[in-house]
Amino acid sequence: MTAPLASAHDHLPELRESLRDLCGRFGDDYWLRLDQAGAYPDDFVKALTDAGWLAAMIPQEYGGSGLGLAEASVIMEEISRSGGNAGTCHGQMYNMGTLLRHGSAAQKARWLPDIARGALRLQSMAVTEPGTGTDTTRIRTTAVRRGDHYRIDGQKVWISRVLHSDLMILLARTTPLADVKRKTEGMSIFMIDLRDAIGRGLEVRPIANMVSHDTNELFFDGLEIPAENLIGAEGQGFRYILDGLNAERTLIAAECIGDGYWFVDRARRYAGERRVFERPIGQNQGVQFPIAESFIEVEAANLMRWDACRRFDAGQDCGAQANMAKHLAAKAAWEAANVCLQTHGGFGFAAEYHVERKFREVRLYQVAPISTNLIFSYVAEHLLGLPRSF
Ligand SMILES: Cc1cc2nc3c(=O)[nH]c(=O)nc-3n(C[C@H](O)[C@H](O)[C@H](O)COP(=O)(O)OP(=O)(O)OC[C@H]3O[C@@H](n4cnc5c(N)ncnc54)[C@H](O)[C@@H]3O)c2cc1C
Repeated sequence: MTAPLASAHDHLPELRESLRDLCGRFGDDYWLRLDQAGAYPDDFVKALTDAGWLAAMIPQEYGGSGLGLAEASVIMEEISRSGGNAGTCHGQMYNMGTLLRHGSAAQKARWLPDIARGALRLQSMAVTEPGTGTDTTRIRTTAVRRGDHYRIDGQKVWISRVLHSDLMILLARTTPLADVKRKTEGMSIFMIDLRDAIGRGLEVRPIANMVSHDTNELFFDGLEIPAENLIGAEGQGFRYILDGLNAERTLIAAECIGDGYWFVDRARRYAGERRVFERPIGQNQGVQFPIAESFIEVEAANLMRWDACRRFDAGQDCGAQANMAKHLAAKAAWEAANVCLQTHGGFGFAAEYHVERKFREVRLYQVAPISTNLIFSYVAEHLLGLPRSF
């Protein structure tokens, strides 16, 4: 039997062991069935929640484990590495950070303990709009204060896990773009209780898409929400969203790293077993070298991920490392996916080998939650001192 694939950076081994036990109960066929049915992994997410893993980063005073980004990133990595799709549940891990950092004491006491014990899910964050794309400052969804509530009108697109969440963080304009000094001002974030909102001013339309990923168009038509659901100061929402991006990008880097190791592992196993011309295909350098190169690239991306985690957990700025880790990991995972598919030849296309499913899933991360070009522009501007290009 081939030994498990080991990395020089498999830190936090005890945590990994627990995750591997849990993920091992939801094997390849579980994820394949869901993919084919376009269904959400309710059982898996429940098991993860019951074990407390989705509350990893919630402080102990609110009933969570108070762990750092390093531990949270291992949770995401191990889900992907087991063959699962961490994208189905990663939202909660970073969305609660927005509430924790910017919510009032009353808001935190109201929502965090219930999120920590699994009674409430905060899986969704709604930023992207059809007409504005990456240029978030031009969002058109508005929230207008009327006495003790806000009225929300507008549209969002690609908003994930809405049908499997109780709460959602929404970014909306509270001051028109024409009336603010800086275009990043005048936007605010709100907690939307989806259980009250859907059907009462919020319509949700699922988008058929390339992966089994619950993602939706949202239509707000006079949705009324209590004014107390404003998080932080009115007008500062864009800054609050930016604050959460480093954790999000690092966690997604870790998922991609898990995917990358999965692809390398599947490729090396298949290459060792599949015999053509009376020898294992993996004996040919043309087959083994790309697998070796993929492994090197995933390992290198992993170093940047740990650097981002270390800085984040020490309270240091990690914007550069989080962005670079996300880019390196998404790219390495995608290259590994391609190599794994090629190694499997025709069988790579057969759903029962699981490669084509993971191949589709990992492609997302060069587009969302931030596209490759926008990472390049961040590095060009902030690290290389080049003029801003937009
Ligand atoms: C499955 C899925 C799930 C998602 N989930 C969520 C979610 O839960 N919440 C949410 O808010 N959003 C979500 N998104 C949206 C995602 O964050 C955006 O798709 C992503 O940020 C890119 O924005 P866009 O699609 O509008 O592309 P655009 O902004 O229209 O860009 C299109 C292309 O042009 C490039 N481009 C644009 N401007 C420039 C420039 N100035 N220089 C160079 N290149 C440029 C981009 O890099 C990109 O490749 C999701 C998307 C998908 C596909």
